[in-house]
Amino acid sequence: MTEADVLVIGGGLHGTSSAFHMARRGAKVIVLEADYVARHSSGVNAGGVRTLGRPLPEIPLALMSREIWHGMTDLIGENGGFVASGQLKIAESEDDLEACRQRVALLEAQGFTHEKLVDRKTVLELEPAIAPHVTGGIWAERDGYALPFRTTNAFRRAAQRLGTRFLEGMPVKRIEQRGNRWIAQTPRGVFSAEKLLVSAGAWSGALAQQVGETVPVRPEGLMLMVTQRVAPFCRSTLLGTGRPLSFKQFDNGTVVIGGKLIGIADLPNRHGEVDFVRLVKSARTVTDLFPHLKHLGVNRAWAGVEAFIQDDLPVISASRAATNLYYSFGYCGSGFQLGPGCGKLVSELMLDGAPSLSLDAFAIDRFGRGASVH
Ligand SMILES: Cc1cc2nc3c(=O)[nH]c(=O)nc-3n(C[C@H](O)[C@H](O)[C@H](O)COP(=O)(O)OP(=O)(O)OC[C@H]3O[C@@H](n4cnc5c(N)ncnc54)[C@H](O)[C@@H]3O)c2cc1C
Repeated sequence: MTEADVLVIGGGLHGTSSAFHMARRGAKVIVLEADYVARHSSGVNAGGVRTLGRPLPEIPLALMSREIWHGMTDLIGENGGFVASGQLKIAESEDDLEACRQRVALLEAQGFTHEKLVDRKTVLELEPAIAPHVTGGIWAERDGYALPFRTTNAFRRAAQRLGTRFLEGMPVKRIEQRGNRWIAQTPRGVFSAEKLLVSAGAWSGALAQQVGETVPVRPEGLMLMVTQRVAPFCRSTLLGTGRPLSFKQFDNGTVVIGGKLIGIADLPNRHGEVDFVRLVKSARTVTDLFPHLKHLGVNRAWAGVEAFIQDDLPVISASRAATNLYYSFGYCGSGFQLGPGCGKLVSELMLDGAPSLSLDAFAIDRFGRGASVH
């Protein structure tokens, strides 16, 4: 049996970041990954580093994580390709603009000032190539984007330098607590540690179920497409208001288009599939906003398997059914930005018992009778 202080199940960004932050505190950590690090959502997402548009309980976490993104090189020696492009939510009608106005007023009433209401003129100054029908929007200046595969592997390398072991092709089939040790069984070995973190993305629900905790988590196949190269025309990362959109142009000229577009998630076979008909809708939004892209070809489309939870908030929590068991999963299509910060909070929760920001809104027993304690 291979021993550690902490076992982490899942080598996505939340697993690698949590492992890094725990190793930094001196813990001996082993990460068990069923496929390879960054194989799923954490390596194939849109790379949006976005505080903009978050549910209220996530905002303090997102603002804390945002500061880590801006100082990433100091923390882990690389920046994951982070570009502080700003993110701009586009209003295309008076109704959209009113929704933006109400959102910013709601945030300001709570003391948050990171989302700024902007008028049509400002939108056109920020993005001169955009279609003239826009009516305004919301601007989050310190947001941006990064490269997901590179970021997740940057955390992995930083954790490895601190002694963390990453074992790939190591699917955990069974978890159980024997005495004061957690045991994780895989087809290629048995692992043991005092503490266990389940950060297995869309596959986490089945592991929680093994200790009797039921979470309303469901997998979705989120889709993206990337276009051929085109001359630079857009600097910020764009979001829609009345219709779904997430859109950015990389320095190499390609444009990545998404916006929580749901394809097909095949959880047992561990992959996502593209639904091309649904992709067309998103392409249309883009060509409405940037008519000059009408003839641009799409190079590639893909779908990643992501964990969604009924109330659109993740589970970041100690188990209520067993001691020394922790969860961090269910990031509902927005967990990339949160990865660096949530890893730190999870390390505080697991090593100190007290995170520096409240995680009450993300407790595993918030689903009422859904969570059974035994
Ligand atoms: C197409 C797409 C676009 C997105 N765009 C954005 C965006 O722009 N901005 C943003 O903030 N977020 C975005 N997201 C969401 C973000 O990618 C996820 O919320 C985040 O990466 C989740 O990280 P994770 O570590 O929890 O899960 P994952 O990345 O899914 O990692 C979990 C890992 O656990 C492993 N695993 C599962 N079961 C086991 C087991 N039994 N044993 C061992 N290992 C196991 C898996 O193989 C996987 O590697 C997007 C997601 C997708 C799919």
